[in-house]
Amino acid sequence: MEVASVDLVNALREVLSESQVTENQTVRELHGRDESYHAISLPDIVVFPETAQQVSEIVKVANIHKVPVVPFGLGSSLEGHVIPYDQGITIDFSLMNKILEVRENDFLVKVQPGVTRSQLNKELKKYGLFFSVDPGADATLGGMAATNASGTTSVKYGVMRDQVRDLEVVLADGSIIHTGNLAAKSSSGYHLNGLFVGSEGTLGCFTELTLKVYGIPEHVMAARASFPALDDAVEAVVSILQAGIPIARVELVDKPSMKQVNHFSDTNYKEGPTLFLEFHGNEAGLKQDVEFTKEIVADHHCLDIEFETDNAARNRLWEARHNLAYAYIHGYPGKKMMVTDVCLPISELSGAIRHAREAVDSLGLTGGIVGHVGDGNYHVLLMINMNDQEEIDRAEQLNEEIVLYALERGGTCTGEHGVGIGKQKYQQKEHGDALLVMEKIKQALDPLNLFNPNKILKPKERV
Ligand SMILES: Cc1cc2nc3c(=O)[nH]c(=O)nc-3n(C[C@H](O)[C@H](O)[C@H](O)COP(=O)(O)OP(=O)(O)OC[C@H]3O[C@@H](n4cnc5c(N)ncnc54)[C@H](O)[C@@H]3O)c2cc1C
Repeated sequence: MEVASVDLVNALREVLSESQVTENQTVRELHGRDESYHAISLPDIVVFPETAQQVSEIVKVANIHKVPVVPFGLGSSLEGHVIPYDQGITIDFSLMNKILEVRENDFLVKVQPGVTRSQLNKELKKYGLFFSVDPGADATLGGMAATNASGTTSVKYGVMRDQVRDLEVVLADGSIIHTGNLAAKSSSGYHLNGLFVGSEGTLGCFTELTLKVYGIPEHVMAARASFPALDDAVEAVVSILQAGIPIARVELVDKPSMKQVNHFSDTNYKEGPTLFLEFHGNEAGLKQDVEFTKEIVADHHCLDIEFETDNAARNRLWEARHNLAYAYIHGYPGKKMMVTDVCLPISELSGAIRHAREAVDSLGLTGGIVGHVGDGNYHVLLMINMNDQEEIDRAEQLNEEIVLYALERGGTCTGEHGVGIGKQKYQQKEHGDALLVMEKIKQALDPLNLFNPNKILKPKERV
């Protein structure tokens, strides 16, 4: 650590208590990585604020000392988002973990950023409500807003950006603003919620979030449908959506991934391309949706479809799906996970997945294909030996081929994981001159380039 940092530590200890500021090596190591294959780099200092005012004071200190600030939720992101390559201060939001208000009549909840999605859902259940966005990890709501996360239910309820009514944000000069209000709609001013959601800690630190929640549906039914080929499964999804069936979840899991599921979750599901489905609604409507879905999947050569009606079996099914990434991680000790994350218009999806499968095979890689296919979003999960540069190169080539295929068809390089450093190189190709607008916004809001520097946008000197 540089000599100047001693002053920095002292300045931070003036605005926070002793226990809220640490240079402990183990704590720094925990904040120097995410869940990806990207290289580790440690922050100089980790701080644990408890209030928005403390976050503001931390940012003011960072301004005086011209050191970077990296917000940190749970560190479950997958593209190097939280790794402080320019060192500096990591702000860990784990002590800001209070559910502040449940406005059950407005279907809104106000939370601090360190609240996790399962913590929130546990509380909401008491009110007959739930929060819809469910990334595979038990991420924080601050991190989920900052990456515009989505998950298995986004096909029905939308992504994180659709749930945010208001954010309290500490800006790069330490001032505190609100980006929205409690109203269901507004035509007032620029859409700052939309701007800050997905900004990956590069524009501000969220210190409070007001989020939309939903009533727990009257009836829920889950199903597992297996198919002879991936194409059949994907085309069945496209037909289900085109038929207007209001499906709440539809997830694709290919054959190698079903093997991982069975191995890790101690299930004995059929090992072939499989759709995990869920329907929400009232009894009569659901019955119709289910019958119609059965007909559609049969048209696409479905081998068998099994419904899970009781709660425990349904939870087991979704737990198995959610644990899939961990099933790979635990199944390949010593290797690191690389996950592709493109999203395409739904009509391009089956071609994209076919192309991805062929590319995985022709590059001699081992990987499973899974995805929130109802949104046109799919992932190839690869387990990489980080000591084998040739294997890393092949995996990166695959990622690039998949991204370029998606961009050429009007898709995006990242459907939900975000840019971090991993998808930075595709920003120019995807956004063209709009990238200049993003650079101007960053320059205007963070002129010293202190907030999570050199993420999303290409590397730039700090002023
Ligand atoms: C097994 C597994 C499965 C996953 N599945 C999905 C999935 O289905 N869908 C999906 O979208 N993602 C998925 N992810 C990725 C990850 O869980 C999400 O990106 C999640 O939103 C990150 O939340 P976090 O709390 O871990 O944030 P972190 O990783 O700590 O941070 C993520 C970004 O948010 C910023 N940030 C954090 N807190 C704040 C704050 N208070 N204010 C401003 N910026 C902040 C950070 O600086 C960083 O840029 C998965 C990850 C894993 C490991």
